[in-house]
This record gives sequence, C-alpha cells and structure tokens, in this order.
Amino acid sequence: MTNRQKIVQALTKFPEGLCDDCLANEANLARRQVANAECRLLEKQGAIQRIERFCKHHRRSKLTNILMNAAAAGSVAPEEPPISTKTIPSPDMQIVLMTKYLRCITDFVEEADPESIPQESLAKRIARLRGSGHIPANIVTMMLTVNGLRHHVVKGLKRLSADEWQIADSAMHLIENWHKSRKLAEDTKHSLGG
Ligand SMILES: [Zn+2]
Repeated sequence: MTNRQKIVQALTKFPEGLCDDCLANEANLARRQVANAECRLLEKQGAIQRIERFCKHHRRSKLTNILMNAAAAGSVAPEEPPISTKTIPSPDMQIVLMTKYLRCITDFVEEADPESIPQESLAKRIARLRGSGHIPANIVTMMLTVNGLRHHVVKGLKRLSADEWQIADSAMHLIENWHKSRKLAEDTKHSLGG
C-alpha cells in the first residue's frame, strides 16, 4: 500500500480529521514529514482540507487533515508534479518544479557533453557547450533563463509572477523539444548504422 493510500484509509476512519503527527501514527508512516508532504499535495488536489482544529490527543489546536474527496486522491497521483503546468504553482510547488526542471537540464547537458570538468558550474558548462556547438545558442539562453529563475525561487524564497512562471515553463518546453529532436536524430543515425 502506498503512503497515500494509507493516509486516505486512516482519514476515512477519522472523519473529524487528524493532525500530521496523529496521522503518521494512525497510517503507520515512517515519519511525520511524510504525512505533511503527502497531505499538502492532497490538499492541492482538493482531496483533503487542512485547517486549525483542536487535537484531542495532543490537547491543543493543530493543523488538521480532513478528508473531503477520496476520489480526488486517486484520480491523479502526482508523486512528482507534471513537468508542464498552466496555472501558477504555490511557492512550495514552484521550488519542487524548478528543482525538477534543473534536474532535467542537468541530465540533458550531461548527455550533450563529451567531457565534464570538475568544479565547473552548470552555467559555465552550458556556456562552454554553446562555444563548442554542442548546444544551440537559443537553447543555451533558455537553459540559463530557467537556471536564473530557479535561483530566484530557491535562494530568494520568492514566488514567481504569472509572467515569470510562463517564461520558465515555455523555456522548459523548448528545451525538452530540443532534447527530443536531438535524441530522435541520434536514434535515426544509429538505426542507419552510422
Ligand atoms: Zn494530534
């Protein structure tokens, strides 16, 4: 059973809701943080509501998870958020998404780079690959844009505006398209025996 299923099952048994600690206990989760992270995702999906309520066990008011719509928990199960999203994500989700975007870029750069230089920053590496022609200039610009915005979100602890978010999203879209066509070209080359 997934953590998510355990959580939904536990909350079904307690319609009045459970705080993160009590939920972690009831659902037999390894850590309270698991309950917290999963419940925040479930809240975004509209499956549960998180409101301040008196916890009988802890004898104080705590943020309490209340099951609102069990079906919403099952319909989409983004353990990881989708790579493209039209709405502006919450600050927490922006950090998650930007981290994911950067991981993608790092992977793509890794694939395109025949040599890696120790201690080289990602931005420097991308710039070097533009110089050597391994990554086209327009894609380099997109990569540096996403990297810059990610820095803004993760280090600056600031939420991106709708426009900024759209830029990050579109840039990532172009980067992925470049990666796809690059892979396709390579596969074709291989299948032709080249
Ligand atoms: Zn409690």
